[in-house]
Amino acid sequence: MSEFSLAKRVAALPPYLFAEIDRVKNLVRARGVDIISLGIGDPDLPTPDFIIDALNAAARKPENHQYPSYVGLARFRAAVAGWYKRRFDVDLDPENEVVTLIGSKEGIAHFPLAFVDPGELVLICPPNYPVYGVATGFAGGRVKHLPLREENDFLPDLDAVSDAEWEQAKIICVNYPNNPTAAVAPRAFYEKLVAKAKASNTIVLSDAAYTEMYFDPAKKPLSLLEIPGAKDVVIEFHSLSKTYNMTGWRIGMAVGNPSLVKGLGKIKENVDSGAFQAIQEAGIAALEQGEPFARDFRRIYKERRDLAVAGLKKMGIECRAPEATFYLWAKVPKGLTAAAFVTDILEKTGVVLTPGNGFGLPEAGEGYFRIALTVPKDRIEEALSRIAAM
Ligand SMILES: *Cc1c(COP(=O)(O)O)cnc(C)c1O
Repeated sequence: MSEFSLAKRVAALPPYLFAEIDRVKNLVRARGVDIISLGIGDPDLPTPDFIIDALNAAARKPENHQYPSYVGLARFRAAVAGWYKRRFDVDLDPENEVVTLIGSKEGIAHFPLAFVDPGELVLICPPNYPVYGVATGFAGGRVKHLPLREENDFLPDLDAVSDAEWEQAKIICVNYPNNPTAAVAPRAFYEKLVAKAKASNTIVLSDAAYTEMYFDPAKKPLSLLEIPGAKDVVIEFHSLSKTYNMTGWRIGMAVGNPSLVKGLGKIKENVDSGAFQAIQEAGIAALEQGEPFARDFRRIYKERRDLAVAGLKKMGIECRAPEATFYLWAKVPKGLTAAAFVTDILEKTGVVLTPGNGFGLPEAGEGYFRIALTVPKDRIEEALSRIAAM
């Protein structure tokens, strides 16, 4: 059998940092240990029934069996615009300022192909969702990292970017509420970001997947598009995945500046042919009737968060209680690397955590680990008591 060499863009992908953890996990499982995974950000709760019912009905309609429009069903885009208006008081023209995605990851991964030429600069804030850097690399772009530090509340230092770099930067990627640090962006940060981006004609890619996973209704996370004038430079990616427990369905959206939405549409026109219309119909149901369910999910995650933060404190592990997301970003005890700490816990307890060095730039998240609150409370309790007993 011939063995073919990978293209340079694939060969250049960073090493898979979780390979060692996967190896240890398999060994531990083979010993018969009951594994508790707090590793991946994938909701354990099922998709609400009314959304499944909407899919069932829509799947029976023959008109949904044909190729969809690559920009998305007009009614789905209108539902997105309606949801943005109700939730953020942001006005969107469904015709020109909304595109349906096959999950927001798809859109984020394709976006640089539409706007980044080889050698062009993209600003990324690690620790980060790795897709921004990978997609930039696939487009041949060059990355400058703006690390997120605890002393800056995990916001990038926009003043650390020189005027010349702002001028060169084609895109800056931001993600709030943030995965993995769980930080939330205050309005003043967003205002400054929009001002800097407008002054240098830099595109702002806002990944807003977690705006609905908040714990205090008086402090709901913002959409970057709430900032006056943001639409001049912003494309915001959002998703039904986390809000309505729909990660497996692959449905999301990009909204904002019409030329950015259109450019992304150009890639989609030539790569995929859009999202299954029946799933878009189910997405309409979720956007229009999902809020009471989202409220229940928030309450469940808040209980889990409080339980886990208290348990970590008791063990002397430092961890801020986040205002949003279903992640905890906690400090590795002094003297250990994130990988050593996480591997030791996995070997001794069967609890899977994510080392902080696995998010984009390894050194940016070193010294931290991430907990995903995606198991029921009794399993969180069990995990904590196993770790405490180590
Ligand atoms: C989960 C997640 C997404 C959403 O991905 P989908 O493709 O919409 O399922 C996007 N960005 C971040 C940072 C995430 O953690």
